[in-house]
Parts: sequence; C-alpha cells; structure tokens
Amino acid sequence: MKTNIILMGPPGAGKGTQAKLIIAAYKLPHISTGDMFREAMKNETPLGLKAKSYIDQGHLVPDDVTIGIVEERLNQDDCKGGFLLDGFPRTIPQAEALDKMMEKMHRSIDLVIDVETPKEELIRRISGRRVCKACGAPYHVDTMKPKVDGVCDICGGELIQRKDDNVSALTTRLEHYEHETKPLLDYYANKGNLVTVDGSKEKDDLFLDVSSLIRGE
Ligand code: AMP
Repeated sequence: MKTNIILMGPPGAGKGTQAKLIIAAYKLPHISTGDMFREAMKNETPLGLKAKSYIDQGHLVPDDVTIGIVEERLNQDDCKGGFLLDGFPRTIPQAEALDKMMEKMHRSIDLVIDVETPKEELIRRISGRRVCKACGAPYHVDTMKPKVDGVCDICGGELIQRKDDNVSALTTRLEHYEHETKPLLDYYANKGNLVTVDGSKEKDDLFLDVSSLIRGE
C-alpha cells in the first residue's frame, strides 16, 4: 500500500471529497493546508490573520508561511505511518521544500494523484459548493445535497458558501493553478510517481480508481 500520498488538482476537482473517503478507508492523517488556514482564520490566530487577505482574494499564501505549517504538521507523531497531503504542494518551491523534509525524515513521496477535471465542470462545482462551517465536509446544491437543507449530515453544523468560492476569487485561483501549480505535474511526472485520474467521474467511481492506486493494484 502507498502511504505517503499527495492529492493534486485544480479548485473544484473534488480533492476534498476524495480526501474524506481516503482517510476514512485507509486511516491516514489528512493534511489539508486550506483546512489548516481556514481553522486559523476562524480562531483569528496570527497565522489566520496573515493568511486571510490572500485567501479571500484567491491568491496563494506565501511559500515560507505555507511550508512552515506543513513541516510542523508532518513532524507530528500521527504522520509516522503515512499521510495524505491535500492542496500542498502548490508551487515548485513548496515541492522542493517537501523533498527536503522527506529526505530529513528518510522517507519519500510514493504516489501523486492528479485529479484532472474540465474547467466548465470546476466552475459549476465551485459555484454550487457548500461546506460545513464546523467540520468542513463538502456538499453541492445539486449533486451532493445534505439530508436536511443547510445542515451537515456528519456533525449537524451549518452549511455555508466559502468566501473564496465567488467568480472573482475563483478566476484568480484558476490562474494561480495554471501558472504555479500545473508545472508540478511535470515535476512529479519526471520523478515517476504521478498518476492522473478522471475527476469528471462520479465520486464513488472515482474513489474506486483512487483506491486501486493506493493499494498499488
Ligand atoms: P483549498 O481549500 O485547498 O482550496 O485552499 C484554499 C486557499 O488556501 C487557497 O486558495 C490558497 O489561498 C490557500 N492555500 C491552500 N493551500 C495552499 C498552498 N499549498 N500554498 C499557498 N496557498 C495555499
């Protein structure tokens, strides 16, 4: 089984949904830089206050800040048996810093899953996306409705629209994806651990594909 995994893909590709399925099935700690930043913003910590202006406008948080929080997180005990990185790395300097962290820990990334999704589908998904204010679970107004309108199935929290899920911030996020994150596909393809999956598939079908990659089938 692969245990040191990166989940990549543009905003709206369904990374968060697949991440939830992966961590439930394979008991890997979920390291989502987006979730870490949102938690820090909710608690108004110095990190949250720093990240907020970038995130709300759809810009990337500076590399030094992002690399620092990931390194701290990867050094925690629960990551010893593996981890699922979701939304990190997003730039070449982040990927290089991650390589250095892995070297220090005498480990290596053994699978990079790229969730490829057409742009029109990303826009449709993001404009209808809702998330639980309390636990971050993802929903969609048409395709992934909660059992009770506006209420999270998992924890009963309130469902809200993310502040950066608007047309202007989304356009900026897609531009950052094109220019800064997409070059990582070549970076990992050259290392030989990149696999692309079809993000336009229904979530359970996509999870079957993702699962067989993780199990190394
Ligand atoms: P996500 O939930 O992964 O879509 O992330 C939400 C926002 O958090 C992004 O649009 C960025 O502003 C910020 N963010 C998350 N991960 C990173 C990262 N690896 N590098 C820089 N900014 C990030």
